[in-house]
Amino acid sequence: MSISTNLNNIKSQLPEHVTLVAVSKTKPVSDLMEAYTAGQRIFGENKIQEMVEKHEQMPKDVEWHMIGHVQRNKVKYMASFVALIHGVDNLKLLKEINKQAQKHNRIINCLLQIKIASEDSKFGMTAQAAQDIFNSDDFTGLKNIKVVGVMGMATFTDNETQLKKEFKSLKTAFDTFNTQNSGLRIISMGMSGDYKLAIECGSNMIRVGSSIFGARNYSN
Ligand SMILES: *Cc1c(COP(=O)(O)O)cnc(C)c1O
Repeated sequence: MSISTNLNNIKSQLPEHVTLVAVSKTKPVSDLMEAYTAGQRIFGENKIQEMVEKHEQMPKDVEWHMIGHVQRNKVKYMASFVALIHGVDNLKLLKEINKQAQKHNRIINCLLQIKIASEDSKFGMTAQAAQDIFNSDDFTGLKNIKVVGVMGMATFTDNETQLKKEFKSLKTAFDTFNTQNSGLRIISMGMSGDYKLAIECGSNMIRVGSSIFGARNYSN
């Protein structure tokens, strides 16, 4: 199946309120261009350097999402153009993003990554740690970032009961934060294997890679 066929198949099944991030990590620019030509404008990458290189080669109306773990010392490379950073999991990182955004006279949209998986390997913070950030004076002073929602990665499993439990825990965290912070609107959860379930559980932004571009040659 071609990239454009895959893309159109997925998009035709998505409810209108769900945004599709095409996860293009490890894929060549020619593959991204095929998706672009089919109408896709939002692309997700998990390595800053790779995203910078692709940003330089792709049309300028692409919206670039950083979906991977972010090292603080690399924020500066993407600060001029990144549209949304999904994986923010500590206040120090948020401060660095704010600092770099300020240099470019921008406000950078961010999601707080909440740990919902039972696996140890996944990044993210507890809902309580996120709440602490929202409540801190430091946070209120950050004028060049805007936290617009939350992001989570479920356990890699076929167990629907467990997946639902994890997705619902992110939705619950979102709802709790949202009673106190206006402006939260994005719940980023769901990947190729589990996005339908994630949408049932309240996701409005899904990050889909292999179902669009095919399997990756090495794991990320
Ligand atoms: C790679 C990746 C995805 C997409 O995974 P697929 O299973 O290929 O759809 C989604 N989110 C994050 C954070 C990723 O790193």
